[in-house]
Amino acid sequence: MKKKNVKTIDIPIYRNAGFILSDAQTTKKAFKEEEDHARSPENYIYSRYRNPTVVAAEEKIMQLENSKWALLTQSGMSAIDTALSIFQKGNDTGIWLFFDDIYGGTNSYIDSILQSRRGIKIKRFYSSNDKFDLDKFEKLLEEVNPKLVYFEGISNPMLIVADGEAIIRLAKNKEAVVIVDNTFGTSQLWKPLEQEADLVVHSVTKYLAGHGNITAGVLCGNNTQFEKDAIEYRKIIGHMLNPDDAYRLGTQLKTFKLRFLRQCENAYKLAKTLVKHKNVDIVLYPGLESHPTYSESVKLFKGKGFGGMITFDLKGDNEKSKEQARDKFISAVAEYIPLVPSLGNSESILLPVEAVWGKKYPLPGMIRLSVGIEPYEKLEEAILSALAG
Ligand code: PLP
Repeated sequence: MKKKNVKTIDIPIYRNAGFILSDAQTTKKAFKEEEDHARSPENYIYSRYRNPTVVAAEEKIMQLENSKWALLTQSGMSAIDTALSIFQKGNDTGIWLFFDDIYGGTNSYIDSILQSRRGIKIKRFYSSNDKFDLDKFEKLLEEVNPKLVYFEGISNPMLIVADGEAIIRLAKNKEAVVIVDNTFGTSQLWKPLEQEADLVVHSVTKYLAGHGNITAGVLCGNNTQFEKDAIEYRKIIGHMLNPDDAYRLGTQLKTFKLRFLRQCENAYKLAKTLVKHKNVDIVLYPGLESHPTYSESVKLFKGKGFGGMITFDLKGDNEKSKEQARDKFISAVAEYIPLVPSLGNSESILLPVEAVWGKKYPLPGMIRLSVGIEPYEKLEEAILSALAG
């Protein structure tokens, strides 16, 4: 078929595994260029290396993150693997310091892959009284002298907000590489790279994609050497995002700011309502003055919002009655807010904390709610009627 002059707003989906290189000289040039690991190469070679549709979506994330580069991967976990693996060099095995209140999958990766298989020396920094104590952190840095520090801006599921600015500064003073998982906060609440973090990672599956229909991850940074190392690692290991998902992500990113703003607004209003409810015990939301890290969140997010996640505990006289209250609530609200083990979707979804985290957070009445973009009144009505039921 003859090619037509078709113009589109978005770059199309290039599903090709390999791209046409017109002759041997071009091929030689393309492979020579490839040694330089350019994010957006002159000549595309093979989709596991680079793909134009993926590069177009990366450029949208660079704008959001205000970063020099962004690299998409097929999951949040593969972005985390890439971000960490580029700092593993031969016999240089750490110590790497990880905050303990991070995504469970990342904690499993640290134990099973980094520590058990790759022999990296790991230390963990634990929260105390539902906060990250900066004095304790400083002491631990002194004691451990870590080569790398890793934390999440808002922790999961207790929603502890780290004093990100101070943590990055203290770690950089000790010349540690700093990596931040900003999945819960997103670039809308804070941009860790502007505070000199070395890399930011996201599970794009969550707020950035925002519809529960894509599994993807991204790592972003400003340092050119880290960029080249990450491009090389992603290419060799094969963590590249596929072009179909990159295309859909590119379109879904157009509404990210609007969606997240609405999620923050809905969550803030709902948290204020839940905290007054007679059937609710504790409400954890960083925008409530009662939250242990309210001051950290005001400092870090500078009034831009407090996120779209709320964790709350249902009332009950004992464990059994809390469990019953939880089960009743989940089934009463299910039609409107389903139990889905994810977060950041445009519709509200929930998760029973104890059923997922077990002994780590053994509170049987606890629910983690990912607030969506529904009309607020409808959301409140659904929750209040399930709480009453
Ligand atoms: N980071 C955080 C904070 C997460 O919550 C998750 C998943 O829930 C991940 C990373 C892993 O992302 P993915 O499931 O896209 O691999």
